[in-house]
This record gives sequence, structure tokens and C-alpha cells, in this order.
Amino acid sequence: MLIVRDKIDKWLCFHCPDGCGEIIKLPLNPRQRPRWGVSSDWLRRPTVNPSVRQTSGCKSHFWVRKGKIDWCGDSGNSA
Ligand SMILES: [Zn+2]
Repeated sequence: MLIVRDKIDKWLCFHCPDGCGEIIKLPLNPRQRPRWGVSSDWLRRPTVNPSVRQTSGCKSHFWVRKGKIDWCGDSGNSA
């Protein structure tokens, strides 16, 4: 389950779901590129679009859908 820690100043911040301890910050500002869109369902479970990729560190790559993490097959690979 994704815990959204913070939604201040159009940044979405949460812990990397693989447990590496990294804080992932996604810009939600529409003027910024890249940007991510977040929507919540009626249970306030966030869905994030597009997928989230850590370009450094653990290289995790995943989707957030309804507060759950959907890992991509290439997660953790540097290629
Ligand atoms: Zn990680």
C-alpha cells in the first residue's frame, strides 16, 4: 500500500516501494516536463500516471494503481 506522505507545492512524495529508503518526489506541476498525474478513487487510493522510474539508485520501475504497486518487468535493471 502506497503511503503518500506529502502533497505540498505540487510534489508527490513517498518512500520507494522496494524498501531501499529512497524518497521519491514526483512533480505534479503541469508546466514541468516530465510531470505526473495523480488521481484518487473514492477510497482516496492514488493512481499515478505515467509509470514511475528511478533513474539512479535502485532503478525501480513501477506503476501505482489504486494505491498498489505494479512492478514493471525491467525494474532494478540499469538497461
Ligand atoms: Zn528503491
